[in-house]
Amino acid sequence: MTLIPGRDCGACTVCCTWPTINKPEIQKQSGATCRHCTAAGCGIYETRPPICREYFCAWRTVEIFGEDWRPDKSGVMPYLETEGISQDFDLSTGIGLMLVGNPNRIVRQRWFQDFVVTGVMNSIPIFISLPGPRGYQAATVSMNSEDMLEAIKRGTVKDALEAVVKILRGWKFTPAVITHAGNDVSAP
Ligand code: SF4
Ligand code: SF4
Repeated sequence: MTLIPGRDCGACTVCCTWPTINKPEIQKQSGATCRHCTAAGCGIYETRPPICREYFCAWRTVEIFGEDWRPDKSGVMPYLETEGISQDFDLSTGIGLMLVGNPNRIVRQRWFQDFVVTGVMNSIPIFISLPGPRGYQAATVSMNSEDMLEAIKRGTVKDALEAVVKILRGWKFTPAVITHAGNDVSAP
């Protein structure tokens, strides 16, 4: 994995809260901040487990995201998605946009709409996802749909994205299963 030169997590700790961690050496529920998280970043940085050393969100690895996309500032955690991609695409990896900030406020912004439109128009698999309650899997919806193409044609992308947020909010979330035990770092 190649990291974008000069790009640093800084004070961002978004990926220490939202994803589930299920590894023999460390476990954490989705939506629970890791208890090692401090205002200055990881409190056990030098000895953090391998999964924490190896994981980077797409903001750290994909050139197309500008500086403003840092997850703690934008409210969006971009990630690489390999599941749920139709065989119709040339690409086997897409971009997921997890809305960790205020979902409606995010989708009403032009930079977010432009990103989705550009991705869809260039046949890049784009997904929008919303974290579930603590301990549950996120909800995810593909943006490469007939509805979105129609909205792009009609100039109603904001409305279409707000409708997506409504779908995500009404999702029947499923629990995230953690199979390992022994070092649960989920803060209360
Ligand atoms: S141990 Fe891992 S999940 Fe916890 S704060 Fe450090 S980097 Fe984040
Ligand atoms: S979400 Fe991305 S920028 Fe934020 S701490 Fe994780 S890897 Fe770094």
